[in-house]
Amino acid sequence: MPKLSRSDYYELTRDMNWNLKYVSEEEAFPKAQSDDLGVPLKEWWTWDEPYKITYVEYMHNQSEKDTAAYSVKAAIARSRLFDDLDPGWKAAIIAHYGAIAVPEYLASIAEARMARFGRAAAWRNMATFGALDEVRHGQIQLYFPYGLLDKSPQFDWAHKALHTNEWGAIAARSLFDDMFLANDAVRTAIQLTFTFETGFTNLQFLGMAADAMKVGDVEFGALISSIQTDESRHAQQGEPTLKVLVKAGKKEEAQRLVDVMFWRSWRIFALLTGASMDYYTPLEHRTMSFKEFMEEWIIRQFMDQFRDLGMETPWYWDTLLDELDWYHHALHLGVWFWRPTVWWNPDAGVSPEEREWLETKYPGWNDTFGRYWDVITDNARKGAVEKTLPQTLPLICNICQIPIVTPADPKKRHLEPYSVVYEGRKYHFCSEPCKWIFETNPERYAGHLTLVDRLLAGKIQPPTLEGIMAYMGMTPDVMGTDATDFAWARREVKGMAAD
Ligand code: MN
Ligand code: MN
Repeated sequence: MPKLSRSDYYELTRDMNWNLKYVSEEEAFPKAQSDDLGVPLKEWWTWDEPYKITYVEYMHNQSEKDTAAYSVKAAIARSRLFDDLDPGWKAAIIAHYGAIAVPEYLASIAEARMARFGRAAAWRNMATFGALDEVRHGQIQLYFPYGLLDKSPQFDWAHKALHTNEWGAIAARSLFDDMFLANDAVRTAIQLTFTFETGFTNLQFLGMAADAMKVGDVEFGALISSIQTDESRHAQQGEPTLKVLVKAGKKEEAQRLVDVMFWRSWRIFALLTGASMDYYTPLEHRTMSFKEFMEEWIIRQFMDQFRDLGMETPWYWDTLLDELDWYHHALHLGVWFWRPTVWWNPDAGVSPEEREWLETKYPGWNDTFGRYWDVITDNARKGAVEKTLPQTLPLICNICQIPIVTPADPKKRHLEPYSVVYEGRKYHFCSEPCKWIFETNPERYAGHLTLVDRLLAGKIQPPTLEGIMAYMGMTPDVMGTDATDFAWARREVKGMAAD
């Protein structure tokens, strides 16, 4: 081993591009794996990552991170720490593990594709670290919930969820397949590392780590911090790739890639993080509402950075801003109502104090969503729990695979789904942007069946609620129930005693 100092070898080794002689560029970088979008090779070679690290430094850092996180886990393994956590918080982490652990491993495949098919040596170098990161994230986020299996069989879904046809798992698979498993290296850099990781994951993980510490979940906090620092490094493959594309006049395609994936990411983010922040996290530990979080971190910080790179605000911006007031509330109501179809126990989060908080953060909440919860609360108090449970399936969006919901405010309501007929088949969408995503590339999305499409096509037998539950892999031991067993409904309201 040469005993050189970092500065003597780093620049040389990180950026070792060369002209191919024995094979053509097309043979070495087939379009399906690495579409250069018509940008000349020499321009790709200007790719410059903002965060530079050597292999030795990387290994050193990673082993320290692992040691720290696994020691925290070992130290509290025999404590009662988990038992004392709030039931809503437990729901949030069980939902997180099922939706995120296996996709983290899948992200290592995306990173490995960039590590081989990225268009510049410096990029391939960064992506190699990214692939190692994501293998670690997959492993650690399966190991931690595995340690909690004796607390709840729902932790088994950390590994199981993505291998089932549960509706949320279908939605997550559809998103991640589109974003990186069925995507080439260049588009993955824009859609996974720039849009999803810079825009959503990194910020969400920062927020979740802080929340975990506040609610006393030291184990989850240590885990998430350990992951977040990796994400913030390998997410930095996005910006240099975007810069190369914009400089080479490919702004229009780059903009489309971001617009598509920002919207798709927002859908899943609202579903998971929206409910976690505004309903599952215990009231006394909430620092900001989901809307405030979106405005501060995603709308302002991420989009400022996006515009600094010469890009435009997505065309659907007004739709997004409007949805901040209602979309995740509607999803939460739906998820709670259809709770036997999810692998965690949704926390209704509508005790009198919580409703007051919701009204402060979302003026008008009581008159809109609150009215639905009034009926549910009433039925819960009468012991008519069957009236708080579903009999049917909702209509599902053909792009995001999430049930179609509308605002509770009648003035805003859009009852009819957005539809398209393509090659004789009718497709329904939850929103104009989802419809637009389909229309920009119908052959990419047209073959996919939503859960309801599968039912109508006779693929789910018997075609009953029981048959659907079995198709989704839901077993009685993991089916979601109300997180606090209706404690919120038994609370006294305005002097009126609950029965
Ligand atoms: Mn990761
Ligand atoms: Mn990542």
